[in-house]
Amino acid sequence: MIRTFVCEKDGCSGNIFYLEGNEENLNLICSQCKSRYNINVTNKDYIIIPNCSNCSSETFKVYRDIERDDIYLKCSQCGSVPEKLYIDSDGVQVSYEAKLLNDIKQIMNLVEQRIYNLEVNVKDLEGGQNILEQSLAYINRYLVEKN
Ligand SMILES: [Zn+2]
Ligand SMILES: [Zn+2]
Repeated sequence: MIRTFVCEKDGCSGNIFYLEGNEENLNLICSQCKSRYNINVTNKDYIIIPNCSNCSSETFKVYRDIERDDIYLKCSQCGSVPEKLYIDSDGVQVSYEAKLLNDIKQIMNLVEQRIYNLEVNVKDLEGGQNILEQSLAYINRYLVEKN
């Protein structure tokens, strides 16, 4: 179930937040009363940058997925997601595009490896068939010669 996150401070029902983040934590700061909420983001492979990826607005609406224990952020102005910095397999901070490209490269490598393995298997199979054909020819010749 996804719920809009609303500021929990008494008398405040702010639902627009500023973001403040680093690698381990994401702080939500209520735009009305400045209350801070800490969200653990250690299991993410990206860092959230506190600006909208589309319009550079700094305020966001926050949605919590209770079951998956996850949060979603949407720009309060245009509904886009915040800018993110991804960490690639070497621990280097990269843009989403670079990370995507890297992921695709890894997948391509896997696919290439699989195709290679498949080719090796086919060669083995062909090799096996050759031996079988040679054996059959030999047996045939033997049978013919015997008669
Ligand atoms: Zn508040
Ligand atoms: Zn925006």
